[in-house]
Amino acid sequence: MKKLYYIDYPQEHLEDQMHRYRCVYCKVETTIINGKLEGHLPSCAYRIKLVGAGYEVAPLAATDNLVSHDADDFD
Ligand SMILES: [Zn+2]
Repeated sequence: MKKLYYIDYPQEHLEDQMHRYRCVYCKVETTIINGKLEGHLPSCAYRIKLVGAGYEVAPLAATDNLVSHDADDFD
């Protein structure tokens, strides 16, 4: 099971940056997460929940299947 973008996680403002957000659980900025489940820390409650529900986390060092990418190019 895989979603194109994972954006339904709870977010909060960075203290002094009103236009920047981060995951409530793992505190990683949304721009770093970039809609990817693997953008969250392995210890993130949101990531753990979705992985437990059967969603896939892309391998960090995927060198053998670079041909498949999911419209996650940088703008
Ligand atoms: Zn997170």
